Amino acid sequence: MRDFIRRVLNVFYVRPCVVCGRPVKVVDNINLCSRCTTTVDRYGQTINTSGRITISVLPHKKFVRRAMNRFKFSNKKYYGFTFAKLIHQRLRTCEWYGNIECVVCVPMGKRNRLYNQSAVIARQVAERIGVPFAENAMVKVKDNPPFYKLTRAERLRAVKGAFDISHDLSFVGKRVLLIDDIYTTGATSSECRRVLLLNGAAEVYCATVCYAPLKERKLK
Ligand SMILES: [Zn+2]
Repeated sequence: MRDFIRRVLNVFYVRPCVVCGRPVKVVDNINLCSRCTTTVDRYGQTINTSGRITISVLPHKKFVRRAMNRFKFSNKKYYGFTFAKLIHQRLRTCEWYGNIECVVCVPMGKRNRLYNQSAVIARQVAERIGVPFAENAMVKVKDNPPFYKLTRAERLRAVKGAFDISHDLSFVGKRVLLIDDIYTTGATSSECRRVLLLNGAAEVYCATVCYAPLKERKLK
């Protein structure tokens, strides 16, 4: 019933498109304007860090950056529907799409936020693929200092040993999709990937909504 009411209300709602910010009528909780619907695929990237592949859909700049901030800090949880749709759209073009057996997300640290933004997206992505979302599969066991201004090497050091998996679940032999919000240096996702592989996962694929501009990614 709540879904129905939300759908009815959405007919009248105008919200900013998550890519360009132009007001758009929301259909099925998706705020993406018609122009961005046809052009969004060209922003997608496949990032290869020493053979580890991450797919990502939008550059973390201009309006996307603002949309991501609103999603994370201003309780604009519904942006997650559009972000998940875009990730799923790109995943479907990957040859390993059919291999995914479950979805996990990067866990949230102690400080911050109303909700784990990666979990909001991961749940929707799992639903679209039709596989389970193992919500609390990964746990944060050590809080790292804020990444802001840390170099890549410092980030890798800070995040080392920060994650574990919940031992109620088994990843042995599983092919897992890991979801995070933003790819900057890849330190977080590569540590999560390491922990999943260490716990028997057969394969860990990675997907993020945004990728940082190259100059931010190459922090030395
Ligand atoms: Zn747009």
